[in-house]
Amino acid sequence: MRIGVLAVQGDFIEHEKMVEKLGCQVVELRNKNDMGSLDGLILPGGESTVQGKLIKELGMFDLLKDLIEGGLPVLGTCAGLILLSRNISNDEARHFQTLPVTVERNAYGRQLGSFMSASAFGSLSDVEMTFIRAPVITAVEKDVKILARVDEKIVAVEYKNQMGISFHPELGEDTRVMEYFLRKCRNFSKGQ
Ligand code: GLN
Repeated sequence: MRIGVLAVQGDFIEHEKMVEKLGCQVVELRNKNDMGSLDGLILPGGESTVQGKLIKELGMFDLLKDLIEGGLPVLGTCAGLILLSRNISNDEARHFQTLPVTVERNAYGRQLGSFMSASAFGSLSDVEMTFIRAPVITAVEKDVKILARVDEKIVAVEYKNQMGISFHPELGEDTRVMEYFLRKCRNFSKGQ
């Protein structure tokens, strides 16, 4: 399978390493010519304002939005979740707005910028979760499935072809969240 990883800013290398370790081919998406025949798309963590600006400047915005709206499985982690979200409660910026949720950026404040947890994710238990200046999901619309909560806060959702996750599943040794996403990609490519 060919998995496109947005590679304009942020921790795309860590995603690429995990995707390759799980036997898939990585396509680095750096400009609008990189987007042919993908089975999945990853929007990595980083800085959502910078990523959103670069995607537009590089002419990638409409192409990526069309892919997502066309049903390509997409995994947005941390800043990537912010890019997907319909509403951002504490930011004026809006990006793809394809995921019907509201997020709050940097929701854990400066004091608790980064931390780890081990929590349930869908039917998986004890999933290792690394949070880095993470957003949380403060509201979800109809048909959004909640996959994980940490301290009652929603940190992972799934809506049709889209997954939005506050934490970083590409860091650490636990590959199960990435495998969950790659199964969605496999089902999508079988249906094509
Ligand atoms: N705080 C970043 C933002 O709001 C997201 C942090 C991350 O991706 N690790 O864009």
